[in-house]
Amino acid sequence: MTEPSPTAACDAYDVLVVGGGHAGVEAALAAARMGVRTGCVVLDPTALGRMSCNPAIGGIAKGHLVREVDALGGEMGLCADEAGIQFRLINTKKGPAVRSPRAQCDRDLYNVAVLRRVGAQPNLTVIRGEVIDLAVERGGGGPRVVGVELADGGRLAGRTVVLTTGTFLGGRLFAGAWEQAGGRLGEAGASRLSLSLRALGLRLGRHKTGTPPRLVAASIDTDRLEQQPGDAAPRPFSFRTERLEVDQLCCWLTKTTPATHAIIAAHAHLSPMVQGRIVGAGPRYCPSVEDKVVRFGDRDHHLVFLEPEGRDHPEVYPNGLSTSLPVEVQERFLRTIPGLEEAEIARPGYAVEYDHLATDQLRGDLRVGGVEGLFAAGQINGTSGYEEAAGQGLVAGVNAALRVRGEPPLILDRASSYLGVMIDDLCRVNPREPYRMFTSRAEFRLLLRADNADRRLGAVGRRLGLLDETAFARVARKESRIAAARAQLRAARHHGASLEELLRRPEVGVAAVSALSPSLAALRLSPEELSEVEAEVKYEGYIRRQEREVERLRAMESRRLPAWLDYASVTGLSAEGRERLATRQPLTLGEASRLAGVTPADLNLLLAVVARGPDRPAAGVLAP
Ligand code: FAD
Repeated sequence: MTEPSPTAACDAYDVLVVGGGHAGVEAALAAARMGVRTGCVVLDPTALGRMSCNPAIGGIAKGHLVREVDALGGEMGLCADEAGIQFRLINTKKGPAVRSPRAQCDRDLYNVAVLRRVGAQPNLTVIRGEVIDLAVERGGGGPRVVGVELADGGRLAGRTVVLTTGTFLGGRLFAGAWEQAGGRLGEAGASRLSLSLRALGLRLGRHKTGTPPRLVAASIDTDRLEQQPGDAAPRPFSFRTERLEVDQLCCWLTKTTPATHAIIAAHAHLSPMVQGRIVGAGPRYCPSVEDKVVRFGDRDHHLVFLEPEGRDHPEVYPNGLSTSLPVEVQERFLRTIPGLEEAEIARPGYAVEYDHLATDQLRGDLRVGGVEGLFAAGQINGTSGYEEAAGQGLVAGVNAALRVRGEPPLILDRASSYLGVMIDDLCRVNPREPYRMFTSRAEFRLLLRADNADRRLGAVGRRLGLLDETAFARVARKESRIAAARAQLRAARHHGASLEELLRRPEVGVAAVSALSPSLAALRLSPEELSEVEAEVKYEGYIRRQEREVERLRAMESRRLPAWLDYASVTGLSAEGRERLATRQPLTLGEASRLAGVTPADLNLLLAVVARGPDRPAAGVLAP
């Protein structure tokens, strides 16, 4: 296993990243690649990039985020390709906007892939230590972060600090009556830093998440279970991976039974959530099995995916069985599930509750408002998931480096990326439960596909210096091959109709039209390029409409909000949006769009009202 780079402290850093999870790793690598001196302080340097939960990357909308991180020059996609043991494109039967890649990874290989990249990165030093305090100077303009204090008494100077403390900040672990401080099982938490953040006047909240028991692979009877194979022709996660040669492993599907539900229901009162010992809200979309049994009492089963933790790994992850019930209860209910009658628990399931920053304190570049030079990314920003963390980490690392270089920040808008959607959502509202990405959060879904992330963001990655020339040349080649294919489709005809017209028909696929055009076939487009061509042709009308909407919104960014605008009389505004607009009185629509609580629908409404002018209130828009 590759050793991390030497843990040496140097006197001063341009960017100090606190934490080495998915957010911390992307932040530190991005900043270091941008040529600024970067330090990454972690509790355990061997755990860089460790996956706290299932070793799977991607899935619906999360796969889009990884593709965007990759397009900008980040590492998560490359590590997933290196460590993947099963690859699937999810939602292939649905429209192109919601298709998303997912890879089950080998937990240890992923860790090794991350350690190797960090160890080989110039300008980056990994420092073992617990950050307990932020060093702050107070001038006339408010507090400015100048470094961090370590638990061993050391101090590191930093011109900027990026906090990526994950589930460790004030972390507490729970399973039944058992409870202890910790960031995840076997790793201590970090509670003193919370006090320091509160002392700076920052608002913190509490969130909770959980994980299932890990099962001994050899104790599972998979013979009777449904197999879940990977894709026959697996596609790489990263745009930079030329070829994927992988001997894929199988996953299995089983389900809970009425007997499982009876045991869980009889012991639900032992759950620390039910007992009120956990106060933080958990993810509604990823509930514990006890939550599912209680909330959906009419269901007689819930699906459980049995996913290997690695190629030769002795443990299996039962996806769908997250729990914080006592270990004895976990053992009992497992035995009622087909295939798990003899299953042994390698590590018990548990819940973790931790502190996060109230996200309306964040700005679009992931600065923490009110403390100069301070940035935050990942689970500390109220999100859940490796992919959400990696995306924020990259943006925060880039912006910390840009700040050091005195350059304008990178702000991704909602029309450019899921990353832009996520950061914008976080700045607007304080999520009451851990925030995860869904395709439904993006209003310009047809433009923000997983397959075209490189064409959307490659130029940004290149400009920042994160994407090398070879990788960017590949994006340019793809662009011109797709343009050539579109031209061929328009030029070639079959029975009087152009191939483009044929491809617009719902029953005609891109493979069929390729067979009709030797010059199109001669372009030898990759499967991904072909599906991009297909999406662009079939959905051209919708795509054009979304593009026009984006142009309109971008043009409106600098549109002034006139003094005659009376928010109280605009019907249809959200209650929170109306209150914020009235108190903050933003000067432009762009400024309004960044106010927490002002929704995209509010902005569209304001646009309409401003466009109509003061004297021509439209029925249903302005109150009489
Ligand atoms: P983490 O991966 O938590 O990394 C935090 C890093 O910060 C670590 O390197 C730690 O050493 C370091 N650190 C913290 N405090 C300090 C300090 N004071 N000084 C120095 N270093 C510090 N996500 C899902 O999407 N679905 C799930 O079902 C799910 N279940 C989970 C279950 C459990 C039990 C846990 C623990 C997490 C779960 N997650 C789940 C969340 C997922 O693991 C995180 O979203 C993701 O790892 C967040 O990445 P991060 O980089 O923000 O933080």
